[in-house]
Amino acid sequence: MNLTKAKEALKEYFGYDEFRPMQGEIIQSIYDKKDVVVLMPTGGGKSVCFQIPAVTMFGTCVVVSPLIALMKDQVEGLRSNGISAAFLNSTLGSTEFMAIENDLLLGKIDLLYVSPEKAVTQDFMRLMKSITINLVAIDEAHCISSWGHDFRPEYTRLKFIRQNFPDIPIVALTATADRLTRKDIEEQLALTNPERFTASFDRPNLSLTVRPGRNRMEQVIEFIRNRKNQAGIIYCLSRKNTEDLSAKLNQNGIKSAYYHAGLSSQMRSDVQEDFINDNVPVICATVAFGMGIDKSNVRWVIHYNMPKNIEGYYQEIGRAGRDGAKADTVLFYSYGDVMILRDILTKNESENENIQLSKLERMQQFADSLICRRKILLNYFSENTDGNCGNCDICKNPPQHFDGTIVVQKALSAVYRTREKVGMNLLIDILRGSRRREIIERGYDKIKTYGAGSEFSTYDWQMFLQQMLNLGLMEIAYDKHNVLRLTEGAEEVLFKKRKVELVKMTSIMEHRSKKKAAAAPKKSKRERLRDELFEKLRALRKQMAQKKGIPPYLIFSDASLEEMAATKPSTVEDFLDISGVGKKKLQDYGKPFMKVIQDYILEQSGQGVRIKGSTHLVTFELYKKGNSPEEIAEERGLNPVTIYSHLAALYDKGEAVNIRQYIPARDFEGIKSLHDNNPKITPKEIFDINEGSLEYHVIRLSLSVLKKRN
Ligand code: ADP
Ligand code: ZN
Repeated sequence: MNLTKAKEALKEYFGYDEFRPMQGEIIQSIYDKKDVVVLMPTGGGKSVCFQIPAVTMFGTCVVVSPLIALMKDQVEGLRSNGISAAFLNSTLGSTEFMAIENDLLLGKIDLLYVSPEKAVTQDFMRLMKSITINLVAIDEAHCISSWGHDFRPEYTRLKFIRQNFPDIPIVALTATADRLTRKDIEEQLALTNPERFTASFDRPNLSLTVRPGRNRMEQVIEFIRNRKNQAGIIYCLSRKNTEDLSAKLNQNGIKSAYYHAGLSSQMRSDVQEDFINDNVPVICATVAFGMGIDKSNVRWVIHYNMPKNIEGYYQEIGRAGRDGAKADTVLFYSYGDVMILRDILTKNESENENIQLSKLERMQQFADSLICRRKILLNYFSENTDGNCGNCDICKNPPQHFDGTIVVQKALSAVYRTREKVGMNLLIDILRGSRRREIIERGYDKIKTYGAGSEFSTYDWQMFLQQMLNLGLMEIAYDKHNVLRLTEGAEEVLFKKRKVELVKMTSIMEHRSKKKAAAAPKKSKRERLRDELFEKLRALRKQMAQKKGIPPYLIFSDASLEEMAATKPSTVEDFLDISGVGKKKLQDYGKPFMKVIQDYILEQSGQGVRIKGSTHLVTFELYKKGNSPEEIAEERGLNPVTIYSHLAALYDKGEAVNIRQYIPARDFEGIKSLHDNNPKITPKEIFDINEGSLEYHVIRLSLSVLKKRN
């Protein structure tokens, strides 16, 4: 078996032209009957690695997956690509079970998903023995390890597969596995000399942004308002947070729901379904949300509070943009959150408290970072990168270094003069000269540094104070209501002429809100039209999904719709070129989607907007109404020759245009014999040979017909 076949299947079933890095190699190893361990980030494209072998090799591929809730969607997704698939788990009744068993025995199923519980039963073993298995895929393979975070005891019994089927390749796949877990996977599954593949954990389509946590509610509302109709998840620290936040969003006209482990299982699955089916775009959730969903068109993830560690953060933001289209992530960061997390970690007295605290510290360093955030993330996962990513807040908004000694002195002196009795927010208000009551009552408006820092925004001051904390110029008294305290470093700056360098960042947010709507990036007319068409396509997708009872993203991904809106395919050939459109999808959905695109192009050209390909379409519409080329030319104020060339082009693309009717039979025979003699002959040469006795458009049309015959 070779990769050419695999590539053809990739196009035919999934509509993709190229393998992503490593997919090809992994598939080749499976063809070579080797055991394989795949470590790839969420959204990296693990499934294709076993699905392509499954459809190209003889027999059935068994996929062990712990996520029962996902199986139905996964199978549905495969079927919508024209692949025969089924699942076996505890949710099936015995009739369904028997029907599937029957199909398996008849060799009708390419991919069979099973839960680990089912996989380890005697019955299933017998079933496996009675059919041809070409590959066993162990998804979420980290569940096998008690080191990992989702340990599933049944997984440890999967060793039986290797024992009973020594010749069938096994592929184990996971998105999270440290070295110990990887070793566990290989040992416990008894893999023989496995090939190991570790893909980059970079997800370049995810933008990374960290923002100060002050006024996060307003920031969130503005963020979502700029992303109408887009699906997103907001992760919160506590169950109560999720409920409060969701209520606030709903009050502000943003449709949202909340999700946490305290809800009944019915409520939880309702929320999931609504989210998956694009009925509710925004979910406020604890980290309990996300594991059981495969939704590929999550366009953004917000961390309303800081996560405990980078692993969790990365896994959660990883739920955005699984379709590979652009997606945004925002982390709100405040010292308050860090303190709460510290509290939780130290109070719980977990055995590895120190490890957890140091992980929290790494998370905080990420949030405090003044260099490319992606570099820090990838470094954390032991991946070296050169160059900046260009898609994080630091890269987009590089910090400017400046001599910050005076700024620091102002802040430290304010701490000193308020006798170390104020926290961060109050200090900022004092420096900025706020008239808030607490300040007046406590007489802070009388101190020398009151209002001394009014030239900087609150955001700037937050950034400065954060840096001062990191530089050890002051500290937070966790035991005394988190007031700020001076350190030895502070004395050096205040009294010993120590100089301090700070960096200043212009917040994109503040920048924008200052100039109000005017500064919102203006979209070109073309972009607006594209967005408009995208919305129409989205609406059609939703409608068809409802009719079929499947989630919209299984019909087409956002990325496919975006490409459609940008390239506006209106012929079968062009539609098949869209990434994510395979044979089956073309057959099931091509017509209605192309109709929307064509209608849109015609509607726009009716209003004088010229869109690439639109002139052909207008001609085609008039042709379909029974007009002759001359009549069309008359109506459109164009030359008939132009109309003939439109019709020839439409014919070339496979549209139903009868161009033979415009070619006199005698002329055709003459052109045919010239063409038979020399298939490379050009219209001009034919024209010249006939000394102008043939009309040019007749030659052009004839050549189209002859080309198609070959
Ligand atoms: P994982 O299981 O690793 O989280 P998936 O297998 O679900 O990732 O793939 C993530 C997305 O990427 C899916 O929408 C999938 O169709 C798409 N994808 C996979 N392989 C390719 C490819 N070669 N070209 C384009 N898109 C791909
Ligand atoms: Zn960057």
